[in-house]
Amino acid sequence: MSSANPIKYDIAVVGGGLAGASLACALANTGLQIALIEAQAFDAPADDNMRARTTALAWGTRAMFDELGLWGEMAESAAPIKRLHVSQRGHFGRVQVAAEEYGLPALGYVVPNLVMIEALRNRLAGLDSVDVIAPARFQMLRYMDYDRIELSLTDEDDQPSTVSTRLLIGADGARSSVREALGIGAQIDDYHQSAVITIIEPERAHDGCAYERFNADGPVALLPRTADSCACVWTVPTDMARDLCATDDTDFITRLQNVFGERLGRLSLAGPRGSYPLARVLCDKAASTRAALIGNAGHSLHPAAAQGFNLAIRDALGLAATLREHQALKGHGFDPGDADMLAGWAEGRRPDQHRVANFTDAIVRVFSNRVPGLGHVRSMGLFGLSLAPGIRHDMARRSMGLALVEDASSTASMKKP
Ligand SMILES: Cc1cc2nc3c(=O)[nH]c(=O)nc-3n(C[C@H](O)[C@H](O)[C@H](O)COP(=O)(O)OP(=O)(O)OC[C@H]3O[C@@H](n4cnc5c(N)ncnc54)[C@H](O)[C@@H]3O)c2cc1C
Repeated sequence: MSSANPIKYDIAVVGGGLAGASLACALANTGLQIALIEAQAFDAPADDNMRARTTALAWGTRAMFDELGLWGEMAESAAPIKRLHVSQRGHFGRVQVAAEEYGLPALGYVVPNLVMIEALRNRLAGLDSVDVIAPARFQMLRYMDYDRIELSLTDEDDQPSTVSTRLLIGADGARSSVREALGIGAQIDDYHQSAVITIIEPERAHDGCAYERFNADGPVALLPRTADSCACVWTVPTDMARDLCATDDTDFITRLQNVFGERLGRLSLAGPRGSYPLARVLCDKAASTRAALIGNAGHSLHPAAAQGFNLAIRDALGLAATLREHQALKGHGFDPGDADMLAGWAEGRRPDQHRVANFTDAIVRVFSNRVPGLGHVRSMGLFGLSLAPGIRHDMARRSMGLALVEDASSTASMKKP
């Protein structure tokens, strides 16, 4: 592998998914030279998984995209969530929350992933300060002198190249090679479940309501996607997910209807099916020497509470804000790999990351297992939630990715009812 005269960057972001691309956009106009290194070609055709994928964005996340000047491009394809309806199959009790109770036009928005990716990549294409290096796969790293890391990359023909950077960001997903190369450990809990995703056309209008229904096998969510369609995220044991992806359309929709019930009338299949195996990944630390982890590389969550990206963008924009502040403070002496600055950012992010990871995990374990007798407790829980305004408010803030951010990275404010 050649390391002769590698191109020098201030910051190299490995992973051009939603988290890495958001960070690269947030760092524009800092005067820093940034490399965004992505394993997939940016113009690669979308597969079924990607075509069916949507993300429920919290109100605060929408505000962050607005701040980046990206929300305008997404807004037309964004479906507002005006109400949230959480229930459990076969048990009494439900939680309902409406945006109007909080004086907001929507609790959050559902946006197709392809729309978000396109908006981010369009922005990146116009930024002189960001070099997109794709397709290029990060392979290994080497610390150089005292102030640089050299990264070894390969292209799709396995041809090697190198770049060097003062700060390395791992945004390369749950199985992060950057995390591994940095020697950062992670706690990995396999849920032995997969999320089956598709697009559904319901007989009755969803009216902006996001439904989440807990079943013995796992939760199924039908979220507003367009005026006439819903995004379906159905969590089941992994063997069952394989079966659900392989079976014919009629059998699939019959089984979905059976677990979801009749509240939206007859359901019809309106898109491809995809599936994602689910595990909880929590890294031991988010910052290391001249390096940091954001998004799924640092923490990957079950989608039941739709929190993963909402948390990831807070990592990314929080880090961008920290870098900007430090740059303003230090002037010419600014070092993007400053150890104290990175440690401060990681420390500041930890409470939000742990709170959201624990909340998500609790939801999955309480509502999605088959322990006899727990169903009663669960439905009492939901019944209690529907009665107790404080807890219900917490559910509204945290459930389904609608959580508002209590820390400094929040740009939204919300009145308690
Ligand atoms: C079914 C499902 C539904 C979800 N719904 C929601 C939701 O409604 N709301 C929400 O907030 N979150 C949701 N999430 C979570 C959310 O999708 C993730 O948190 C988010 O996509 C994480 O983005 P990321 O950029 O960190 O990681 P990724 O999306 O995994 O991106 C990582 C990128 O790194 C690249 N890469 C990997 N290895 C290398 C390498 N060695 N070199 C270079 N590049 C590399 C990959 O090609 C990829 O582009 C959901 C997740 C699932 C599975």
